[in-house]
Order: sequence, then structure tokens, then C-alpha cells
Amino acid sequence: MAEPSELLTAGADVLVAGGGNAALCAAINAARAGARVLVVEAAPKFYRGGNTRHTRNLRCAHDEGNEVLTGPYPEEEFWDDLMRVTGGETDEELARFTIAQSKELWDYMNEQGVRFQPSLGGTLSLGRTNAFFLGGGRAMINALYRTAEALGVRVVYEAEVVDVEIEDGFFLSATVSHGGTRHRIAAKALVAAAGGFEANIEWLTEAWGPEAKNFLIRGTPYNRGSMLRLLLDRGVRPIGDPKQCHAVAIDARAPKFDGGISTRLDCVVFGIVVNRAAERFYDEGEDFWPKRYAIWGRLVAAQPEQIAYAIIDRTSIDKFMPSVFPPIEAASIEELAGRLELDPAALRHTVESFNAAVRPGSFDPAALDDCRTEGLAPEKTHWARPIAEPPFYAYPLRPGITFTYLGVRVNRRAQIVMDDGKPSANMFAAGEIMAGNVLGKGYLAGIGMTIGAVFGRIAGREAGHHVRN
Ligand SMILES: Cc1cc2nc3c(=O)[nH]c(=O)nc-3n(C[C@H](O)[C@H](O)[C@H](O)COP(=O)(O)OP(=O)(O)OC[C@H]3O[C@@H](n4cnc5c(N)ncnc54)[C@H](O)[C@@H]3O)c2cc1C
Repeated sequence: MAEPSELLTAGADVLVAGGGNAALCAAINAARAGARVLVVEAAPKFYRGGNTRHTRNLRCAHDEGNEVLTGPYPEEEFWDDLMRVTGGETDEELARFTIAQSKELWDYMNEQGVRFQPSLGGTLSLGRTNAFFLGGGRAMINALYRTAEALGVRVVYEAEVVDVEIEDGFFLSATVSHGGTRHRIAAKALVAAAGGFEANIEWLTEAWGPEAKNFLIRGTPYNRGSMLRLLLDRGVRPIGDPKQCHAVAIDARAPKFDGGISTRLDCVVFGIVVNRAAERFYDEGEDFWPKRYAIWGRLVAAQPEQIAYAIIDRTSIDKFMPSVFPPIEAASIEELAGRLELDPAALRHTVESFNAAVRPGSFDPAALDDCRTEGLAPEKTHWARPIAEPPFYAYPLRPGITFTYLGVRVNRRAQIVMDDGKPSANMFAAGEIMAGNVLGKGYLAGIGMTIGAVFGRIAGREAGHHVRN
């Protein structure tokens, strides 16, 4: 087998920057189109596959259910769902195109060796709309690597694109840093599939201010937006707002990077959430958790020191998915406040006011029940029960950033669009790096992988055609 440095000096027809879902779909399709393909992945082999490693499913339109998907999910319904979460902030042409193309993903992924399983029960009810990967995102990305390598795609790990040479919208070469050496790779086409900039705290700070230092990054530390920055600095047209991203509230004790899905907490709807002043700040029972969990990242980000605490009692501790970190436990609210370094009198006051405002109702976690408060600001509109039975429990919450939306503008051929509005003839983009074309704001579970696969396939095919012609 050739050494990485030999692979880098041998060059390629198509250079793919990145090593996740979008990059591998592109590499596979470019190789199938007859191109010699080189994938450069910044991460070491064990961590290959960026945020894709953490995924569980992808969303795809389909006219009929099958052995995994429990029923039809028509394009129009997918479109309505996307409109609801983005509030219309999407490029309609590209979004409708993505949805139409998503119909091919079931067959395509199966052909590449990816296997699916029925959705497991749990808090996110996605069995009809989303196809779950058998073995999760790691198994999914491993299948894509196996297929790519069988097609002759060469992969170099710990290889980061650190510069690109572009002339009049035409890609000439990339500089790739590997093992302390810089290699200039002159390829006929470039596919940029190197993720967003969510792991770049300095860049997040430019957008959010100093608050960003308190954010946790749910995925790979390698998505620092280096490729995105290079392209934007070299005349590529940006898309999206640097502050827009997918952010959820996760356990504040999660690692700074790469904590993945296991640090999610599903207890918010069962209790109250307070900030450092021990005050509530939002209706914890506004809607079912799967429909609300994505707004809580921003809500916590807006609180002092970007931290909050979910407080529950004995009656709720068994109502949600067990947490990776144990809850903080105490026999009284004052003792709990002490453990959280909150003002005990303030927390007692908040809990007592909440308990006094709870109206009688029949508690039903499976319905938008009638357990609510009256006379509080903010009210809790469902699943409100007094927090009165010791032991009392708390979970600290921090914003967990999943991925950012600022990216490069593309057209439906996945061609990168330059500042003058003209598409580049030989630069293509796929995945998080261009997700902002479809997601102006908001998020629909599973659409990250849809965007990556749809545009990855097209980018690979188009890059392959460009090389042949
Ligand atoms: C915890 C978690 C759970 C998620 N669950 C889901 C889910 O179930 N369904 C879903 O649709 N989405 C999910 N997402 C979002 C999803 O992971 C992404 O939308 C998707 O994986 C993006 O694919 P990608 O190929 O664009 O980026 P990635 O898979 O992140 O790959 C980008 C790669 O680029 C590499 N790279 C970065 N810079 C450079 C450079 N300069 N040179 C070379 N390589 C570089 C990185 O090392 C990385 O491997 C989840 C995200 C997280 C964090």
C-alpha cells in the first residue's frame, strides 16, 4: 500500500476535502464517473467521518413505506415541515430540489453498503420520515469508506487543506498539510466537503461575542471551518448568517468537543429550568420535547454565564432517558441550591411560587395534557406538577452546538458560486459547508445527512464529468 506522502504527491483528478458523509458520497460518485479521486481528511483515521460519526438517521421523502420506514412521506409534506422550521428562510429552488432528490437516497445508500433498521422507540418519533442507520453513523460511514476504497478512491488521514489557489473562479491547486509537510495538489476539480466552523471557538466568538466561550461543541473538533474560510477569502459568495446554527441544551458536564448524542437531556418538560439567579425564563412545557429541544440551546445561550439548571423531584426521575452523568441530588431545595451554588432563598421562592401556581390536572406525558400553571410569568403550559417530593434532582445545562449554517453559495449542480454570481466550472461543495443554502434557520431532524448525501452525490458526479470533458 502506498505511503500517505506518495498518495499526496501522486495527485488526482478530483480532490475531495473532508471525510464525512458528503465527502464520501462525492468521492464514490466521482470514482464511478471514472475519475482518479483523492480524499484528504483532517482527522486521524479513528476519528474519520466528522459529525457523521454521531448521526443516527437521514430524512428522505418516499411515496410508500417499506420494511423500515413506517409509511409514506410525500415531498409536499417534507416541504411543509421545512417551511415550518425555517420560517421560509430557505432557497426554495434548492430546497425543493433537495427534497425531490432525497427520494433516491434509500436505494443509493443501500447500494453503497449502508444498512438501515426500524427506528427504536423513544422521545423522537421519526419512524415514518427518517431512515435509521443499522449500527449508527459510524457503521454508516464505514460502509461508505469500504465502497469508496473498493472503487479505487485513495484516502489520506491527518491531511488538512490549508490553502487553495483559485484564478477567475477556477480551482488550480490546494495545499495540504500532512505530518508537518505541505503538499501542493493540482487537481482538475475540487469538492469542498469539510464541514462547518462549529469547532472554531474564535470564529463563534466573532459571531456571538464572549458568550461563545461557554458553548459546548457536540461533534468533531476538526470542523474548524478552515476550508470555508479559505473559500470565502478567495472570492466565493457566502450564504447564511454566522449566528445561525443547530444548538440544543445538553448536560453542562459534557466534554468541550465530541460528546455526541449521549449528553442530551430529556428532563426539561418534567420540571422547571432556572438560571443563575434561580429564576425561570421560559415555558418548559410548551410542546413535546422533540419539537422544542432545538430552541433550548439558544435559550440557555441567552442566560447569564450561558448556564441553566433543570430541577425535578422524585416523581419525574424515571420519566426520561437515563443520563450519562448522574443528576445532582439533595434532600431539600435549599441543599440542592447549595450544590448548584445558587441562592437557596431564591430557589426556594421560585419553586414555591411555581408549586402554588400549579392547577390540578391529569398528568399524561404522551399528550399535551392539562397540567399547567396559572398566574406565573412565564407560565408552564403542560406537564406542570409540584416539585415537592424529595429527593430533589438537578441537571446543569449548557448550549451544545451541533453545526453552523454560514457556508458557501451553490447551485443545483453543487457548483460553488463566486462573488460575481458566476458558478465555478470546477469547484463543488456538499454538506455542512453549504447547508445554509437550504437551512436559513431552524432544523429538521435528519436533514443534515440529506443535504450532505444529495449534494455529495451531485458534486461527485459533476466533478467526474468535468474531468472527463
Ligand atoms: C451529536 C450529533 C448528532 C447528529 N445527528 C444527526 C442525525 O441523526 N441525522 C442528521 O441528518 N444529522 C445529524 N447531525 C448533523 C450531521 O452530523 C451533519 O449534518 C453531517 O454529518 C455533515 O456531514 P458533512 O460530511 O458535511 O460533515 P462531517 O461529517 O462533519 O465531515 C467533515 C469532515 O471534514 C474534515 N475537515 C475539516 N476541515 C478540513 C480541512 N481543511 N481539510 C480536510 N478535512 C477537513 C473533518 O475532519 C470532518 O471529518 C448530528 C450532528 C451531531 C454533532
